[in-house]
Amino acid sequence: MRISLSAPDISDAEIDAVTAVLRTRQLSLGPKLAEFEQAIAAYTGVPHAVAVSSGTAGLHLCVRALGLGEGDEVLVPSFTFIAAVNALRYERVKPVFVEIEEKTLNLDIAALERAITPQTRAIMVVHTFGCPADMDRIRVLADRHHLHIIEDACEAIGAEWDGRRVGTFGNAAVYAFYPNKQITTGEGGCVVTRDPALAARVRSLRNQGRTGDDWFDHAELGYNYRLSELACALGVEQMKRLPAILDRRETIARLYARYLADEPGLILPPLDLPNGCISWFVYVVRLRAEGLDDLAARGLRDAVLRHLRCAGIGCGRYFAPVHLQSCYSQRGPAVSLPVTQAQAARTVALPFFNHIAAEEVAEVCTVLREALQVCAVG
Ligand SMILES: *Cc1c(COP(=O)(O)O)cnc(C)c1O
Repeated sequence: MRISLSAPDISDAEIDAVTAVLRTRQLSLGPKLAEFEQAIAAYTGVPHAVAVSSGTAGLHLCVRALGLGEGDEVLVPSFTFIAAVNALRYERVKPVFVEIEEKTLNLDIAALERAITPQTRAIMVVHTFGCPADMDRIRVLADRHHLHIIEDACEAIGAEWDGRRVGTFGNAAVYAFYPNKQITTGEGGCVVTRDPALAARVRSLRNQGRTGDDWFDHAELGYNYRLSELACALGVEQMKRLPAILDRRETIARLYARYLADEPGLILPPLDLPNGCISWFVYVVRLRAEGLDDLAARGLRDAVLRHLRCAGIGCGRYFAPVHLQSCYSQRGPAVSLPVTQAQAARTVALPFFNHIAAEEVAEVCTVLREALQVCAVG
């Protein structure tokens, strides 16, 4: 693609930092791990950060460390990346899919309350596309029903609710550092929590269930979810630039919003929230496609995607609902989530990365308008 959907942003200082690790003898469980974890804890404002090999691994360990398992239900959106749901399945927890609200694409609080049963143990809150979920109302609900909160903040490092960073509201939260995220370590993730016992458990589970210095003493069944010193060195440097990166991404989002503001065929993502501050992960517009059923809307949307790609512009559909994936739809009774399905059929993710040029944003918008005309989206 001439203009890609996403692209990592790696500085010379970051390349030097990774190279420097390669010249040492410590490639795992060394000083860069501690430094990276301290940087994340300090930035987030929680006492404990445990770096892991991916966001998925982090979510899995949260589920495990909270003691969730067979017979338990956890409320989770279907409009999300599949990892948030898979982390439950790994521990035989039943995911209960909950509807989202149209404006923010985050969990619908009324639907959340309706989905609670005596088996419900936790809410997996996803801050979709870096837009913070309403943590005040979710907290009230969780307290009333004695539920844990796991924050999937994999798309949302730096986002705020009520002036507090997301990741500080739940029993535990996870950030992720895959190359398309706000900052990257190649692959990687980090669990953050205020709970020292939970942090210790995650730390041990990450490292084959070890609790002490003895390499062959395993207190419980664990995993190798460690993050290498190379990855951590990259993460330490990326963290230094995070505020500048988030500023840059917000500038790009506002540029898109300005170029597309008067386009009647589109619904644009909210730029400002009364109580929150967005950390821009992707820029996803939705086709209005009024009066069309989801199948027809999806056909139109896919035609728009093809048009963009033919013009050399990377784009994607974020997300395909998890409950419709074969690995979920073939288990148990069919679930109907009309808002999730309608929104998912209409999404178009546009090129979004730190060093995209203003002219490229303008070109994407021109081609997108053209695509809307050609495909007759009204
Ligand atoms: C990226 C992401 C994850 C974690 O993905 P990894 O590739 O395992 O790091 C989890 N949940 C959501 C919503 C994500 O976007």
